[in-house]
Amino acid sequence: MKFTSKLPDIGVTIFTVMTNLANEYDAINLSQGFPDFDTDQKLIELVNKYMKNGFNQYAPMQGVLLLREKIAEKTLKLYNASYDPYTEITVTSGATEALFAAIMAVVKKGDEVIVFEPAFDSYVPAIILSGGVPRFIKLKPPYYVIDWEEVKSAVSERTRLIILNSPHNPTGSVLVKEDIAALYDIVQKTGIFILSDEVYEHIIFDGFKNESISKYPDLANRSFVICSFGKTYHTTGWKTGYCLAPKMLTAEFQKVHQFLTFASNTPIQYAYAEFLQNEKAYLDLSGFYQKKRDKFLSLLKNSRFKAIPCKGTYFQMLDYSSISDEPDTDFAKRLTIEKGVASVPPSVFYHDNDDHKMLRFCFAKKDETLEKAAEKLCGI
Ligand code: PMP
Ligand code: GLN
Repeated sequence: MKFTSKLPDIGVTIFTVMTNLANEYDAINLSQGFPDFDTDQKLIELVNKYMKNGFNQYAPMQGVLLLREKIAEKTLKLYNASYDPYTEITVTSGATEALFAAIMAVVKKGDEVIVFEPAFDSYVPAIILSGGVPRFIKLKPPYYVIDWEEVKSAVSERTRLIILNSPHNPTGSVLVKEDIAALYDIVQKTGIFILSDEVYEHIIFDGFKNESISKYPDLANRSFVICSFGKTYHTTGWKTGYCLAPKMLTAEFQKVHQFLTFASNTPIQYAYAEFLQNEKAYLDLSGFYQKKRDKFLSLLKNSRFKAIPCKGTYFQMLDYSSISDEPDTDFAKRLTIEKGVASVPPSVFYHDNDDHKMLRFCFAKKDETLEKAAEKLCGI
């Protein structure tokens, strides 16, 4: 049978590739972004409680109402943004599902979508499956900020969507107020939608604050804002996130969501709803991870790797150009196999595999894991 792939250029995601390699060679896995420490036992007890109490059948399609209410309260408090839990909030099976549903909901055949590279690897496949065309704009090292003049010239009447991600995976750059103003200038008289991937909203350092698009009503009224509980509560395996969007966009979003997954895990939603009352858990997260970043950097002070500034996320990019001129994919593999530390080669986040001789390391790890990894990296 003759078969033409709908995604001919897409292979196995780098997260699977590097984690499998790390497991195969028993390397310390600083590649895929997940903590190697556990979530709060209270949260686990809450999931157990709701399971034992019979909350084991389908949740409502939009998500458990109590959780949507708690998300609305949190968003109001943090960003002074008002979202109606009945019509403007959807709980999803991770941010990944929300990204896919949002892109599917608005991108039509031939529409252009502006994607900043390096880009998290789930955006482009969703654009292609929607029939859209990615328009790539590169963020330049070492600061990886957006050149808004370039965005202005890339925008045309075919532009349907701009995808933002701040704090940014993999570079750790963050958007500031000036970026928001420049964005508004560009989109204000257009029909362009915005997708703002804010899964690292609570992992932001050095006094920076998440410039959530939800804070800006003139932008929020054309935007999907996507968040993930996985990052915030050290529960990446529970795959629960949410999407905030104005009523009209939420309605379109839910048309996709209801057939992509219908509803997300019920007891976990109830547990998060109750756990969200403890604001400290997410408000203290930036301080917690800033310490991890600083520890990792100080352990690497005498290594031959050069760190670029990381203002948010739990990823640190390290420049290895003074060690090797191998392509980053080769160097990442060799580092895993020969030195026992796995990382992610950021060239996979570019459509043309742009290679800046850097690797991305996840520091969401126990101090002892960071110490062991740094010792190996310092020996190079
Ligand atoms: N967006 C970015 C930028 C990410 O790094 C991730 C990684 N997990 C996701 C979305 C997906 O989040 P989730 O695990 O909740 O699907
Ligand atoms: N977001 C995580 C990362 O960037 C992993 C996501 C995944 O495994 N799909 O490493």
